Amino acid sequence: MEERLLGAMREVAEKKGKIVVLTGAGISAESGIPTFRGPEGFWTVGSREYRPEEMATYAMFSRNPDEVWQWYLYRIGICRAAEPNAGHLTVARMEALFGDRFLLITQNVDGLHLRAGNSLARTFQIHGSIEFVRCGVDCTKEVFPLSPAVRVKKKHEPLSDGDREALRCPKCGSRVRPHVLWFDECYNEEYYRFNSSLRIAAEADLLLTVGTSGATNLPMQVGHVVAQKGGLIVDVNPDVNPFASMAGQNGGFFCQGPSGTILPKLLDAMTN
Ligand code: NAD
Ligand code: ZN
Repeated sequence: MEERLLGAMREVAEKKGKIVVLTGAGISAESGIPTFRGPEGFWTVGSREYRPEEMATYAMFSRNPDEVWQWYLYRIGICRAAEPNAGHLTVARMEALFGDRFLLITQNVDGLHLRAGNSLARTFQIHGSIEFVRCGVDCTKEVFPLSPAVRVKKKHEPLSDGDREALRCPKCGSRVRPHVLWFDECYNEEYYRFNSSLRIAAEADLLLTVGTSGATNLPMQVGHVVAQKGGLIVDVNPDVNPFASMAGQNGGFFCQGPSGTILPKLLDAMTN
């Protein structure tokens, strides 16, 4: 690892400023959870293959709620069976070390950061969480835990009557939906911490972006705010992506490689 990068990480750690870690699906890839852009991204309904950008939409849920729930219950099964990897554990150690100087913004809905030890108070799950649901017709803003009576599914296994019963809104009886931000929906503060994420970005000394392809809006805005305010951007990803370019243009660094290997080295530099 480049000496200039290690020096910059040490310097950030010694200062008093905020450290923001922004993660995407890539950090969970080494735990066996497929990213959306990989070959595992497709879902077949009838004779047609759908992209996540089509499945994870309110439009699809309104037309075919059972199919959307089958897809989610299959993915929830994968996430529950997965374990946090060295990348998640390093991010949890960063929170333990830097306390209220630290904030995690994650696009992941898999809950692995919380299971690795990050606190809910310092984790903004800006795309929601698959372990929670809310009313599918918005009769209430309340968010509920996914009922334990709902069973996870094998690929394309249909819902049972018991699942359908347990997937009802406790207030109005309509079907609940996963508490996640879909591709045809907008960010907001109440569910997804939109304004808070941008406010914290403006205070960041360091933005560490990990495993995100930069295809979503709020993460890109967070990057631009940090760059504008002169914070250091360090990107970790095996592939070139918009955050790598953003880092390069603003005196930051692109660490090309898997997060499970790179993040522990970066934390070492911050602590030694
Ligand atoms: P993405 O699927 O668009 O991109 C994943 C990125 O991770 C790519 O840039 C890829 O190069 C990188 N990557 C792959 N392996 C890696 C590794 N070992 N270490 C570091 N990086 C690695 O993911 P995204 O940008 O997060 O956006 C996709 C959307 O899909 C988000 O809205 C997210 O909520 C959702 N999603 C979540 C999960 C999850 O919760 N685990 C999984 C898939 C998709
Ligand atoms: Zn309702």
